[in-house]
Amino acid sequence: VIRVRDLYKVYRMGDTKVYALNGVDLDIRRGEFCAITGPSGSGKSTLLNMLAGLEHPSKGEIVIAGKHIEKLNEKQLVTFRRERVGFIFQSYNLIATMDAVENVALPLSFRGMGKAKRAKRAKEYLKLVGLERFMTHMPNQMSGGQQQRVGIARALAVDPQIIFADEPTGNLDSKTTMEVLKLMQTIVRERNQTLVMVTHDNNLATYADRIIKIIDGKIVSIEENHKEADLEAAREEGAQKNKDC
Ligand code: ATP
Ligand code: MG
Repeated sequence: VIRVRDLYKVYRMGDTKVYALNGVDLDIRRGEFCAITGPSGSGKSTLLNMLAGLEHPSKGEIVIAGKHIEKLNEKQLVTFRRERVGFIFQSYNLIATMDAVENVALPLSFRGMGKAKRAKRAKEYLKLVGLERFMTHMPNQMSGGQQQRVGIARALAVDPQIIFADEPTGNLDSKTTMEVLKLMQTIVRERNQTLVMVTHDNNLATYADRIIKIIDGKIVSIEENHKEADLEAAREEGAQKNKDC
C-alpha cells in the first residue's frame, strides 16, 4: 500500500545542509504493522511526516494506494490527509477548548458529515477505546493515557486506510503504554488497516510485524517479526474490552 523510492529530505540551515533522509527505499503492505526505530535525530519523524503528506520530500517517490504523494500540491495534500490518513501524535494534540466528543468529531466535519451523525460516530469510537465515561471531559480533565485514547479515537473515526503514529506512547507510563499499544494493534488488525509507528522503545517494536531501523537518514535493517502468541493475547484482550463496553 506504500512504496517509497530513493527518498531524500535535505534541510538547509544557513550554509549547512542536513540530510535528514538519505536515500530511503521501503515497501509497506496493506494491513501491516511496521515499527520505525532508530536513535534520536536519525530521521524517523521526517520519514513519517513525508509518508503522511505533512512535508514535501526533496527528492524521490512516495506512492500510497497508487497515488504519487510527492506530486500533489498543498491543496491536494490536505485532501489526501483528510481522506486516507490518521495521525497519532506523541503530545496528543487535542484541542483544549473542546471535550472528548468534539475532538473526535472535528475531522469528521472536514468530510462534510452532519452534526448529529458526527457526534454519534465520535461516541462510538470513544466507546471503542474504553472512554464511555469521559465523553464530555475536557483534555485537562483526563490523564495522559485517556487523552491518547481520545487521540486514537480521533485518528480512527475517519476510518483511514493508514494510521501513522509518532511516539504515540512517549509520554505514558509503561503499563499505560502497553494498554494503548495493544488497543491500537487490536483495532487496526480487526479492520485490516496499516499502522506505521515510530518508537525508540525496542520492547514496543517487538509487537510489530516488521521493525525498520534508521540511522543517519538511511534504513540499516528491516527485521521480520512473528510474535504470534503476543498478537493472539492482544486480540483476545481487545475482544474482551469491546464486550465490556
Ligand atoms: P527523535 O527520536 O529525537 O524524535 P527523529 O529520528 O524523529 O528523532 P527527525 O526529527 O526526523 O529525527 O530529524 C532528523 C534530522 O533532521 C535531525 O538532524 C534534525 O535536526 C533535522 N531536522 C528535522 N526537522 C528539521 C527542520 N524543520 N529544519 C531543520 N532540520 C530539521
Ligand atoms: Mg521524532
